[in-house]
Amino acid sequence: MSTATSRETLGFQTEVRQLLKLMIHSLYSNKEIFLRELISNASDAADKLRFEALAEPGLLSEDPDLTIRIESDKDNNSVTISDNGIGMSRDELVEHLGTIARSGTAEFLQQMTGDEQKDAQLIGQFGVGFYSAFIVADKVVVESRRASLTANDGVRWESDGEGEFTVETIERAERGTSVTLHLKDTESEFAEPFRIENLIRKYSDHIAFPVTLSGSADEDDSAKLVNAATALWTRSRSDVSDDEYKEFYKHLSHDFSDPLTWSHNRVEGKREYTSLLYIPANAPFDLWNREAPRGLKLYVQRVFIMDEAEQFLPMYLRFVKGVVDSSDLPLNVSRELLQQNPELSAMRGALARRVVDMLTKMAGKSTDDYRKFWKEFGQVLKEGVVEDDANKDKLAKLLRFATTHTGNPEQDQSLDDYVGRCGEGQDKIYYILADNHATAASSPHLEQLADKGIEVLLLSDRIDPWVVDGLAEYDGKSLVDVAREGLDLPEGDSSVTQDVMDDEHKPLLEKVSKVLEDRVDAVHVSTRLVSSPACVVAGENELNPQLRRMLEASGQELPDAKPILEVNIKHPLVERLSAETDSGRFDSLAHIVLDHALLAEGSQLDDPAAYVKRMNSLLVELDSHAGSG
Ligand code: ADP
Repeated sequence: MSTATSRETLGFQTEVRQLLKLMIHSLYSNKEIFLRELISNASDAADKLRFEALAEPGLLSEDPDLTIRIESDKDNNSVTISDNGIGMSRDELVEHLGTIARSGTAEFLQQMTGDEQKDAQLIGQFGVGFYSAFIVADKVVVESRRASLTANDGVRWESDGEGEFTVETIERAERGTSVTLHLKDTESEFAEPFRIENLIRKYSDHIAFPVTLSGSADEDDSAKLVNAATALWTRSRSDVSDDEYKEFYKHLSHDFSDPLTWSHNRVEGKREYTSLLYIPANAPFDLWNREAPRGLKLYVQRVFIMDEAEQFLPMYLRFVKGVVDSSDLPLNVSRELLQQNPELSAMRGALARRVVDMLTKMAGKSTDDYRKFWKEFGQVLKEGVVEDDANKDKLAKLLRFATTHTGNPEQDQSLDDYVGRCGEGQDKIYYILADNHATAASSPHLEQLADKGIEVLLLSDRIDPWVVDGLAEYDGKSLVDVAREGLDLPEGDSSVTQDVMDDEHKPLLEKVSKVLEDRVDAVHVSTRLVSSPACVVAGENELNPQLRRMLEASGQELPDAKPILEVNIKHPLVERLSAETDSGRFDSLAHIVLDHALLAEGSQLDDPAAYVKRMNSLLVELDSHAGSG
C-alpha cells in the first residue's frame, strides 16, 4: 500500500477551529477532563462494535476481549488511549474529527462572550469531546482501523489543533483506535502513571469495559486493571456513590456540569428493565430544535443497541438523559421495530411517570434545585400539560408562575401557592396573557382585581395559551382570562351590572360605536378599570389576542375578529370625550382611546400613521390653546 501518496492535508471546518480555540481557553482550569472524554469515546467504540458483532460475530472473533488501554510514556511526554472497538475508516476519521455535525453549532458559538467562566458553562452545554485533547496536547495522533470482515487499511490522523490536519493510509494490524497525545511541556503531569491512575478512578471507574494502565515508569511493565469494569446501572443503588452517578452522567451526556438529580430503578416482573434517568442542570443549546438529538441510550441485556432512542420518553421530556437496559426487547431491535413494539408504550408510560415523580420529589425537597430546573426547562415541561393527559395533574403541581402577588418576573409560584392565598369565595384562578412580562404586569385589565386584592397569574411564555387551555381548572377552580368579556369577580357589586351601566350611558356608547364601527365589535362601560381610560377584551368565544398574533406570525390565515372596547366612565379622558361637542374632535379622541387600549395590551396598530396624525393635531391644538390662553 503506498503511504506517501495517500497523505492529505485538510482544513478543519470553521466551527471546529472556533471551538478548539474557545475550548482551550475556557476549559483550561478543568483540563484533566480530556481523559474522561477520550475514555468515554473508546467505551462508545467498544459498545458499537459489540452491537455490530450481533449480526456479524466474525467482527469480534480476532480479538474478542474489548479493552481500553492507557499507556503513558514519560520519556516522550505522551499518553496514548487505545481501544479495540469499532475503529474508523479514512472517510469516517475525516468526517468525525474534522467537522461538527450538530446543526446550530455556528449560532451556538456566536453566543460565546469571552468570559471564561460563562463560556466554560456554554461549552459544557454543547458537550466537549475528542477536541478536549488539545487542551493539554500540542499534537494529537490518531491511528485507527475500522472493524471489518475483509482486510482493510489503517489510517493515521494528525493535527496540532491549529487549523489543519493530515490523514494518511498506514499499515495497522490492530482493530480499533489509538489516540496519542503529545503533551505540551507544561502538561507533563499527564504522562505520570500515578496521576493518570487517579484520573481514571475519579472519572472513569464506571466504564463497563476494563480500563488498563501501563507505563514506562511502572516497575513491571504489564498493564494493570484500574477500573471496576461493570456497567454502573447493573450495580445496586446502595453500591454506587453520588460521585459515581455524577461521573457516569458526564460520560453519557458529555455535559460538563453535575446533573441536578437522577433516578435509578430496576423493574422486575412481566417486563424487566433497568433505567437510570438524569435531570441535567443546564439546557443544551439546541433544546428548541425539534431535530436535535434526544432520548436515552438503549441497551438490551447489557449490550449497547443505540444512542438517542427517543421512543422511550415523550417529547416534552426531551431534556432527560439516561440509560435504559431491557431484558425483553430483542437484540436485533431497530428504530422501526421499536416503534411497533407493543411493550414500548407501557415502558414509555412508566418512564415518563418516573421522571415526573423525580421532579415532584425535587420540587418538594430541594426548592433551589427545582427553581434552577424550572428556569432551564420550565417552558418545555409546560408542553406536558398539553401532551400528556396521564400525568397532567402531577404536572400541574409542578408548574411555576409569575404572579401579581410577588410583583417580579421570576416564575416561582405554584398553583398551590396561589390557591392557598385565595380569599374565601374565590372559586376561580385568574390569569392574563401577554407577549412579555412587563405588558402583562401593567395591563389595565388588572386594575380592578388589584384594587380588590385578587391575585392574577402573569403569563408571557409562548406556550401559555395552550397550557391554560389544556389545564382548564385546578383544584376545582376554573382558570379565567381576565381580558375576556363578561369577567365576573368574587363579591361583585351585583346592583351595578354591566347592563345597567351600559343603559345609563347609552348615548355615549352608541356614538363611540358608530365612530369605531369598523374597528370594534361593541363598546361597553367597564366594570374592571380603575385608572386606565379603556381596554379591549376578547369576546367569550374569540381567540385570545396573544394567541392570535402567534398564529398569524406562523402564517395561519384567521378570520377577522374585532375586539370589544370597554371604557372607564369615571376617567377624565372619557369624561372629556363625553363632553366633546365638536364631531371631528370626538372622532379623533374615540380612535385614540381605542389605539391606546390596543397598545397597552401589546397589539400593533393596523394604521399607526393615522394614529400619529391624530395625536399630532391634538398636540398642536393643545399648544394653540396654551398659546391663546
Ligand atoms: P461525540 O463523542 O460527542 O460524538 P467527539 O468529538 O468526541 O464527539 O467524537 C466525534 C466522533 O468521532 C464520535 O461520534 C465517533 O463517531 C468518532 N470517534 C471518536 N473517538 C472514537 C474512537 N475511539 N473510536 C471510534 N470512533 C471514535
